[in-house]
Amino acid sequence: GGAAFPTHVKLAPPKDHTVHTLIINGAECEPYLTSDHRTMVEYAPRVMFGIRVMMRALGVEKCVVGIERNKPDAVAAMIAARPADLDIGILPLTVKYPQGAEKMLIKAVTGVEVPSGKLPVTVGVVVQNVGSVAAIAEVFETGLPLVERIVTVTGHGLRKPANLIVPVGTKLRDLLAFCGGVTADAAEVIVGGPMMGQAQGNLEAPVVKGTTGVVVLAREETRAERSWPCIHCGRCLEACPVFLNPSTLGELALARRYETMSEMHLADCMLCGSCAFVCPSNLPLAQLFQGAKAALRRQLATAS
Ligand code: SF4
Ligand code: SF4
Repeated sequence: GGAAFPTHVKLAPPKDHTVHTLIINGAECEPYLTSDHRTMVEYAPRVMFGIRVMMRALGVEKCVVGIERNKPDAVAAMIAARPADLDIGILPLTVKYPQGAEKMLIKAVTGVEVPSGKLPVTVGVVVQNVGSVAAIAEVFETGLPLVERIVTVTGHGLRKPANLIVPVGTKLRDLLAFCGGVTADAAEVIVGGPMMGQAQGNLEAPVVKGTTGVVVLAREETRAERSWPCIHCGRCLEACPVFLNPSTLGELALARRYETMSEMHLADCMLCGSCAFVCPSNLPLAQLFQGAKAALRRQLATAS
């Protein structure tokens, strides 16, 4: 599933909740990544078969596939492949980042907001990614587990960007070489997308089941190494899709006041990076929040 969350867990929701709708996430999770788009265009019947399997597993009668409006070929392919005996809606969505974030997608599709700290099942929905749905279908078609996946290999620092079907375990070095190698001004390799991905210095690292993309950034696309104090301009507050206060959270993170961050709903932060992207002081806000979340998890583990 998205962020490598186990798909089978999502398909076995707690008994005290009723799931009425399966939502398929066809909104790409990050800029630059196009693997879900290509999957919908090239493997629409397979995606539909995966949806059939998942609807059966969940016992739901309704499914909605959310796809951003700038992918009309994917919308058309999915409409054409829709089986007549299932209630599957194809919903074009506004193009905006992070439309592919689970709670954003649920709000866009159902109009309902998942309460802070709660899971989607509390509002009666389960969300699955296009990639997971296609993978489930493949398991049923071939009997094989997930041994390969579609990976977007792209970025201005790469010679021949492509979406590739890649065996899990392939080294990043081989992947980049297959795409013509990197350009002279290539500066950084990111595994995942440019907003939420992780910089990877070791090109011997493998593609894993959760590798959606590999992005090679050119020098002018990378962050300046230096950051400056917050000037309280408020841009990060306007950018945050879940209405947090990244400015204050950032200051609390630097002071290691993690419990106070928790009280300020850090758990709702989806680490989308929108705040850091607009910050004129170049503060690594999402990184700070990721560190704070990890520290809180460690504290919880030590206490239990
Ligand atoms: S965008 Fe950056 S400088 Fe502006 S308020 Fe937020 S953290 Fe401070
Ligand atoms: S990373 Fe920043 S913008 Fe994104 S949800 Fe967290 S605080 Fe909000």
